[in-house]
Amino acid sequence: MYEFVEIERVDAVGRIWLNRPDARNAQNSAMLDELDAAFRELKEDAGVRVIILAARGPHFSAGHDLREGAARRGDFSVEERWVFEEKRYFEYSMNIWDCPKPTIAQVQGGCIAAGFMVANMCDLMVASESAYFSDPVCHTLSAAAVEVLIHPWVLGLRKAKEMLFTGGRLTAAEALAAGMANKVVPDAELADATMALAQQVAKAKPFALQLTKRSLNRSFDAQGFRNALNAHFDTHQLSHRTEEYMAVRRAGLDGALRKEADKTA
Ligand code: ZN
Repeated sequence: MYEFVEIERVDAVGRIWLNRPDARNAQNSAMLDELDAAFRELKEDAGVRVIILAARGPHFSAGHDLREGAARRGDFSVEERWVFEEKRYFEYSMNIWDCPKPTIAQVQGGCIAAGFMVANMCDLMVASESAYFSDPVCHTLSAAAVEVLIHPWVLGLRKAKEMLFTGGRLTAAEALAAGMANKVVPDAELADATMALAQQVAKAKPFALQLTKRSLNRSFDAQGFRNALNAHFDTHQLSHRTEEYMAVRRAGLDGALRKEADKTA
């Protein structure tokens, strides 16, 4: 029933796998629609207490599918792009953040741009030693980061600025040191270690977990979390119409795509 994701159930844990490994789990529209549907399915499943977001293959996700974007949305107007990105990039991401059940990202290999965005919508993160993180779109596309500026909230302001300004990679060890990853494990142990963490969380009574998550997320809201994310979405849309961005488009997305591919080579 799903083409680009699959759902695995183990006791009270539901694990959603991004399943487009031959494209480094690049997120096309269909994958995002399915991912949102899969989260909704597990949210409504009374037997599931904890949700893991994982990915098949050597890389978590190379980000949005830029080839599909160039082919289908290259000449989008401001209005059309706004509608598309608000639903699939912003609202779908916030649906993960607002999922009442605890969520855990299971990350290996490249976790790039929109991959970084989606993984960081989860409450906890287990990374493998091969994991690396970046959001290079300021450098590659002349865009203002990705649509949801989760970066400073999970990395701290300094590390977020370093990553975005340089376009460089953060290693799994750096993600752990910054407090973004909860633990780092060998690649061979990633799936089991994440499942073990999920099973431990699932021992708590589900409504107590949901109330706890609600309060923790509200501690961010009290600091302006949602307002800041909404403001960045508007700014990000502006960055899709600048001369700098148009110059990248005129030069062809091929160069940018090659740079993106190099990031997960
Ligand atoms: Zn965008």
